This record gives sequence, C-alpha cells and structure tokens, in this order.
Amino acid sequence: MSSHDEKAAWEEAQQAEDRNVKPTKANGGRRNAPFYKVLQGMPIAVDAFRYGAIPNVTAYFLTHAHSDHYTNLSSNWKNGLIYCSETTANLVVHMLSVDKKWVRPLPMNVPTVVPNSGGVTVTLIEANHCPGSCLFFFEGKQTVNAGDSSFKSNFVGSSRIFRYLHCGDFRACPHHVLHPSVKGKKIDTVYLDTTYLNPKYCFPPQPQVVSACAELVRRVAAGESIDGTPDAGSRTSLTGWFNKSSEASLKACGLLIVVGTYSIGKERIVKGIAKSLNSKIFCDGRKTAILRCEDDDELLSMLTNDPCDARVHVVPLGTVSSDRLGDYIEKLARRKDSSRLKWERVIAFRPTGWTFTPPAGMDMSPSISKVLARDMTRAPFTYAQLKPIRANAAPVSVKSKITVYGVPYSEHSSFFELTCFALSCDWVRMIATVNVGSAASRAKMSSWVAKWEKERERRRSGEEDVVVPYRSEDYW
Ligand SMILES: [Zn+2]
Repeated sequence: MSSHDEKAAWEEAQQAEDRNVKPTKANGGRRNAPFYKVLQGMPIAVDAFRYGAIPNVTAYFLTHAHSDHYTNLSSNWKNGLIYCSETTANLVVHMLSVDKKWVRPLPMNVPTVVPNSGGVTVTLIEANHCPGSCLFFFEGKQTVNAGDSSFKSNFVGSSRIFRYLHCGDFRACPHHVLHPSVKGKKIDTVYLDTTYLNPKYCFPPQPQVVSACAELVRRVAAGESIDGTPDAGSRTSLTGWFNKSSEASLKACGLLIVVGTYSIGKERIVKGIAKSLNSKIFCDGRKTAILRCEDDDELLSMLTNDPCDARVHVVPLGTVSSDRLGDYIEKLARRKDSSRLKWERVIAFRPTGWTFTPPAGMDMSPSISKVLARDMTRAPFTYAQLKPIRANAAPVSVKSKITVYGVPYSEHSSFFELTCFALSCDWVRMIATVNVGSAASRAKMSSWVAKWEKERERRRSGEEDVVVPYRSEDYW
C-alpha cells in the first residue's frame, strides 16, 4: 500500500470506528471493520467481533480474553469459527457463554493450517501478557480481498507467500524474536501493540518488579527496614525470629497483603508475593472460577476459599483504587473467625503501567541508540523504589493500618522493549493497533517506526547483532 493509500485507509478506518455511526438496516445492520482488523488478502480477522459477519471472512482469531479484544462476543455469536489458545477458549466459554461449537483451541508453537483459509498456516506464540494471550504468526498466499476496506490488494491470486505477525497485546521479550517461526523470516506486516509507544514509558522489567514486591513484603513481615537502612526498633527480628518457611512465625507476622487485579492478568505478582510469605492466596468465587480456566497448576495449588487462611488477598483493581479497600478490611475484621488471621498492618498493591512516573527532566525525543543505552545501563529495580501512594479515604478505624503502593507493573511493552523488538526482527511494515483514533497520535507513532527502521538498517550494515543483546530470554 502506498503512503497515500495508507493515509486514506486510516481515514476510512477512523470513520468506521466513529462512535456516532450506529448500525442500521440501511448500512447492513453492522459496523464496517477497519482495514487493520482483516489480514490483507486473507479471509482472516483478528480481535474483530464487534463487526458481525465480516464479508468473506471465514476465520475469526482472538488474541486473548480481555474485553477490548472480544467486544460483542457473546452467547449469540454465530458468524464463524473462533480460533485461539486453549486457555482463551476456556475463558470465553466460561465468561461469555460462547457456544463451544464455535470455539477452536489451537496448539502453541507449531504451525497449523487454518481451515477454509486458502492454505494459510498460523503459529501461536506466548505473548507475555495475560494467561492464554498469544501472538499469531500467519504465513500463506493472498487468496481473497476480504473485509470492508475499499483498499484492495493487487497480490490476490499471485504465488507470493506473505507473512503477518499479529501481536495482540504483548510485552515484547527476546523469546518472541528468537522463536523458530519468526527468527530469520521477512515479515510483511507486524500488527503492533502500541499502548506505550512513547519514550516516557520507561518502566522496569517485570521480573524485577515481582522480586521487588516480594522482597518488600518479606522485609515488612520480618520487621526489617524497607528504606535500605537497618531498623533499630526491629533488632530482634533481624536476629532471625522470622523464618520464611516457618508457619508459626508467619502467623505472628501480623501482615495482610491485598493485590488489585483485573479479571485476568497480573497472576505473576500475586504468586511472587504469596511465595515470599509462604502464604495461600484468597480470592472470591467468581475470580477463582476464572483462575480455574487458566492452565496454571502452581497457582491453583496456592488458592484457598477461606479468607482467614491466607495473608494474600486478590481483589478487583477498583477496590484498591478507592475507599472500598477500607470497607473490605473492615468487613474482614468483623468476621467471627477473623482472630485466626491476626493482622495489624495492611499493604495493598496497585499494579499498573500507568503508575510509573518518568524521571524529571527526561529527554522525550531521544535518539534510538540513547534509548538502548539508557535502559541497558539502568540499575535493577528494587523494593526501595516502591513508594506508598496517597492513603485511601478509608474508615478511621482501619486507615492508619493501610499502606497502598503503586507498582510499575505492566503487561504491555515499555518503549525500550518495543524498540528492542522492532530492531530485532525483519519487518517491512508496522501497523499500530492502539491509540490510532487520531491522525496526530498516528503521526507521532509513525515517526518512531521510521526511526526504528533507519536504526535497524544502520545496525545491519555494521557489525552489530541482529537481535539486540538481552539480559535473559524473558526480558531485554
Ligand atoms: Zn490485554
């Protein structure tokens, strides 16, 4: 597609997504799908359930079970087969009552032929987002101009093989570019999760954040200092009365941890904290049923339905962000059997990428080499960098006991990680899938994509590695 056509296609997409456009009989009773929801030249749509039966689409893919990706998917769905991971299949059947006859779970990591697609194969790759989330790597010929876009492909019917990598929502990591399906392949189009495509989003790697939270609660439980200096008042505890594996001392630690989460996602932080306290995890029946859909035996073995049997409680994110946290704690304290839990102090965690505040004076239009250097040389994130945020308007009886921490924990890529990903694989075109509602936002993102392309070519023509050097396969 020429840059002129691309601009026009985006304008058409923006009109299709206009909230004021209502599906009526006159416009076919459905909303038009924007061009980026249907793979060019293939009868395949991704995360496009709000558009009803899309013309000529025979396979509907779902990257993961977050509501903004499955909009309008319900028990009434009858527009075609839905392909996704096993966990996502369990979740949409459980949460949305989608009839199982429409759902086709696919295996991870092996190329699988998509039925009625003109021979396209797809490989599912773990996205490092929420449970069940995946990237889709499609490979095949263009056989049909499906969808509503007026921009058609000239390659339909040709023998050329096209490759598309749809990232859904993901936290980019070396594993993605080292995957045998992706490594060394020329990808025609990458559909990129551009949630944090802005240099101000320089939050730390996820494993470091999980360790920092776990270490913070371990220290508080042990009566150790949490500002990096020994606490004179807790000398006895420093001499070792607290033992991570001792249940007796755990019961004496007087600590209750509350972690806010969305319906799915952020399980890693919950497990990390629970392990550091050697505690079980409590959540309500609704959340437990959702967690049971996820293929995580370790997590399931840690769950309990008795709130007084766990020092780690998982609640909806909204509860931690509001005065409902105080209500939650009070309600727990009013239970007849609450003495079994014996807590005197509550630590609540609010994990979200948006919690992160960039350092003052940060360069907002750095060169790509500066972006790489800045993040690679940064000291690891530790518990000492976790800071309490404004206390909630909790009831007076419990307010003094609650400390809420914002945690810069994101399941989307940081700007640095997006940059590493873009430099480390061979793509021709990138299509942003988030923050695409305005021409100004799209232009800003395009300018970064152009910088990545230039830097990638510079690195390739020199001696530098194709894949940006990484600290672990889990994170750059
Ligand atoms: Zn998501």
